[in-house]
Amino acid sequence: METINNPQELQNLCLMLRSDGKKIGLVPTMGYFHEGHLSLMDAARKQCDVLIVSLFVNPTQFGENEDLDAYPHDLERDSRLAEEHGVDILFTPARDDMYFEDHCTWVEVPDLAANLCGKSRPVHFRGVATVVTKLFMTAQPHIAVFGQKDWQQLALIKRMVRDLNIPVNVQGHEIVREESGLAMSSRNVYLTAEEKSVAPNLQKGLKKMRDQVAGGETDPAKLKADLADFYAESIPGCSVDYIEIVDPENINILKKVDESALCAVAVQVGKARLIDNLLIKV
Ligand code: AMP
Repeated sequence: METINNPQELQNLCLMLRSDGKKIGLVPTMGYFHEGHLSLMDAARKQCDVLIVSLFVNPTQFGENEDLDAYPHDLERDSRLAEEHGVDILFTPARDDMYFEDHCTWVEVPDLAANLCGKSRPVHFRGVATVVTKLFMTAQPHIAVFGQKDWQQLALIKRMVRDLNIPVNVQGHEIVREESGLAMSSRNVYLTAEEKSVAPNLQKGLKKMRDQVAGGETDPAKLKADLADFYAESIPGCSVDYIEIVDPENINILKKVDESALCAVAVQVGKARLIDNLLIKV
């Protein structure tokens, strides 16, 4: 495995690889790998000749009071895991390598960023769309794999790629969970043992909602209120950022749950802001 920091060097290499007919796969990450990241790498590995994983904690997608500087990192461990999972190139640019001091070009996908995390994190998706575009331009991938845990991000990137004619096949990968049902996340390290023992109720509540829908309930207000009650009871001290039921493709809020729906939640548990979602097929 080769580690590259310089975007220009990576781009030159990738343009050459492409012209040699090599199929390039990209998995963008912010590092501190867990099984979720690794399963994305495994899925991409099977479909490409050259697997590139980017590891970049992108400052432009963090708001002012968010955890940019506290974000967990362990480059040595990440490098070892990436190598074990067949990664050919680990791209680890420094912040200054990715953004010029006078960077002023942004990619925005406002309709897909209006709800859920976009609502509570106003600059987040502008940062995501911009950095992913930069990564696509740099790594020139034929395929790119993203996790469904960040469903809104995946939907937004698919729309961006469609709208801007970016020649990459964007694929979603199912959520990887701990045995307890807690969705894996680099931010789970912020949880105390006690918080970790109740955090699986995030998914439990989503499944309860799915059962309610299967039982005929179609009113989002009722479903959301019941889920909020369940979280208040089962995750002591938590604070719900949002519970929303949206169209899985365009992330518009649904007025009635009578078609395929995505229930997405963000809940602050101690120091960790946890997100999870469940696709409900009606
Ligand atoms: P991050 O490092 O958190 O930015 O995540 C990098 C990629 O891994 C994103 O596409 C995430 O959606 C994906 N990812 C993170 N956690 C999981 C998980 N538990 N299961 C599947 N994919 C995940």
